Amino acid sequence: MKIGVVGGGQLGRMLGLAGIPLGFQFRFFEPSSDCPAAALGEIIRAPYDDPDGLERFARDLSCATYEFENVPAETAHWLDERLSLAPSPKALAVAQDRIVEKAAFRDLGIPVQATASITSAADIVTAVRAVALPAVLKTRRLGYDGKGQRVLRASSAVACNADAVALVQSAWDELGRVPCILESFVTFTAEVSQIAVRSRRRAHAADIAFYPLTQNEHRSGILFKSSSPAPCDPTGELAAQAQAYVARLMESLDYVGVIAVEFFVTTGGLIANEMAPRVHNSGHWTIDGSVTSQFENHLRAVAGLSLGSTASRGASVMINLVGRAPIVARLLEVPHAHVHLYGKGARAGRKLGHVTLIAPMAQDLVDPAAQIELLAAWNLPSH
Ligand code: AMP
Repeated sequence: MKIGVVGGGQLGRMLGLAGIPLGFQFRFFEPSSDCPAAALGEIIRAPYDDPDGLERFARDLSCATYEFENVPAETAHWLDERLSLAPSPKALAVAQDRIVEKAAFRDLGIPVQATASITSAADIVTAVRAVALPAVLKTRRLGYDGKGQRVLRASSAVACNADAVALVQSAWDELGRVPCILESFVTFTAEVSQIAVRSRRRAHAADIAFYPLTQNEHRSGILFKSSSPAPCDPTGELAAQAQAYVARLMESLDYVGVIAVEFFVTTGGLIANEMAPRVHNSGHWTIDGSVTSQFENHLRAVAGLSLGSTASRGASVMINLVGRAPIVARLLEVPHAHVHLYGKGARAGRKLGHVTLIAPMAQDLVDPAAQIELLAAWNLPSH
């Protein structure tokens, strides 16, 4: 079976690496000339909304998926009418707009922080009334890795409501006066993500499978480290709550494929931050750390096959390699290290690869993780 993947980045590459042993072939739809997935299958090189490119991409495919959530809506609908596209355009539409996403969470009883929409300067006063500072202003669309957002602190300079309005106004100007969401700043004790997969075989008992909850640490808005099982959830209570929320979301969207939902852990429980309708960076540890990786299970779901076990092989820690090319030989000197490089050129803030450490017990990973953290030279963007 040939599977079409919109996008040829590192997630496409890892889908290819997981699918080739199962006999899948791949066709990637990707506008850039040199992409990480190039070694794994045929590349249709065209802009994502190019009709001729889409025709060439869709020809003789029975199913397709995507590896990033900014696929143009028209492209998703065009594909969905001709072949089996998973996750669906509906799931994509929810994930593409932070206001729609938060409304979907709220409608399902999944807790979210206070939010307000800003589409014109006239909305700012009402938004500030609904969402007090500290807050985060984010573009509704196209933000990733902390891009397109500004943290607005309630410092001593913000003495009154008028000051807060002025602060939001200048942040909105900086973000280009595009439609934005103003969110309360959440004081969290940890960040976690729940990765789950739902297959097409709805009559089947193992319809939805969950990976263990993963705890995530970001630096400058970019994922730095993921640990599983999540150290902040020794009793499994948070995982049970997260899984109940994600199951609700997947059922409501009639979802097929892997989904990742990121949550803030607060003293009052979980608060949903965002969903990704695709394989996710916080699930990269599953390649080495799970019986079946998120990439393989996504393909199995999209192709209508049985899901594989999501059980862990032990404790895992994943550390991203960002910005500067790592010295691979040094990384490999660290016990338990599995190195994954994406074949990308070095650039500030760019994810170039990751290292996963696995061992039977979490405490065995403390020292190797510290060594990898030192070796993972960080070169973060300024924003
Ligand atoms: P996002 O692009 O929404 O995933 O945001 C990237 C990171 O910024 C998150 O993982 C958090 O560390 C931080 N962040 C985003 N939104 C908020 C918020 N409302 N309150 C506190 N921190 C946030």
